[in-house]
Amino acid sequence: MKAIRVHTFGGSEVLQLDDVPDPTPGPGQVVVRVRAAGVNPVDTYVRSGNYAMLPTLPYIPGNDCAGVIETVGEGVTRFKKGDRVYVVRTTTQLSGGYAELALCDAPMVHTLPANVSFSQGAAVSVPYGTAYRGLHHKAHARPGETLLVHGASGGVGVAAVQLAVAHGMTVIGTAGTERGRRLVQEHGAHQVLDHTAPDYLKKLMELTGNHGADVILEMLANVNLQKDIDVVARFGRIVVIGNRGTIEINPRGTMGKDAAIFGLALWNAAPEEMASIHAALGGGLANGTLRPVVGQELPLKEAARAHEAVLKPGAYGKIILIP
Ligand code: NAP
Repeated sequence: MKAIRVHTFGGSEVLQLDDVPDPTPGPGQVVVRVRAAGVNPVDTYVRSGNYAMLPTLPYIPGNDCAGVIETVGEGVTRFKKGDRVYVVRTTTQLSGGYAELALCDAPMVHTLPANVSFSQGAAVSVPYGTAYRGLHHKAHARPGETLLVHGASGGVGVAAVQLAVAHGMTVIGTAGTERGRRLVQEHGAHQVLDHTAPDYLKKLMELTGNHGADVILEMLANVNLQKDIDVVARFGRIVVIGNRGTIEINPRGTMGKDAAIFGLALWNAAPEEMASIHAALGGGLANGTLRPVVGQELPLKEAARAHEAVLKPGAYGKIILIP
């Protein structure tokens, strides 16, 4: 099969299209014929060698993908050849999602409802899983509360907006471009702000009658954490999802409000938490509540271009690779 491989950590130029042997499933595993693979910012951190957990070289990048079952290993009864599925995690070291075929442990594979395209399916696992974990497992967000999605135009942000609106929250989302702000509004945010405008958080305080946001999902904490502390409500919860550097904060701002700051890494979710996340997401996908947004589709061989694009400002849903 054709697959993108990384033989040495580095810039996007290290992503190369190789011919590699087809994977075969062991007991409890399946092979998925990949029709679409999601590109996440984390794929770029791993590729550059700047990440807490690094695979052994060479490796096939990517985790999130969707396609059809090609072969099933011994003991797998949930799936048969041809079933439409999305993948939560491939068996990374051996086989990633940027390939024509991906090897997966069967529990990491879920049915893709007929109303959801393969590209949308490849946009589910990390973005929706992270947004769900942030909202429900970390912040314990409640209907009626106000949520700030600080960076709502990208993969995680759009997912968070849809999940929170369905949960009965008042949602304020931010984006840096007019196109991004329109997208956030189209997906149900009640108010949309421009995180490049100097006074946008003053506007948030006005919109909430000076209450602030009960929950904040933060996509760029090294820029925004102090601002989040300033606008979080009393008893509020800030969840750090994205961070690309350091920031000085004054913790005093959290004290009078009894506010909490949580870190989140999706891979820390226990298997039973992952199962509950995907039970919820499967339901939301099937009934149309969750509608992953595909902003750009590129051929697999253009993985390098996708890695450059995912780090640029002006996010618009997901970037997808098509094998
Ligand atoms: P993405 O699709 O590239 O979106 C990035 C988002 O950040 C966009 O909405 C972008 O808005 C926004 N942003 C840019 N500048 C901002 C600012 N000054 N203030 C607030 N938001 C700003 O990325 P993603 O997949 O949604 O992921 C978002 C972040 O979370 C990334 O850093 C990613 O690595 C991280 N992440 C972490 C986990 C975890 O387990 N902790 C899981 C998934 C993702 P504009 O482009 O409109 O300016």
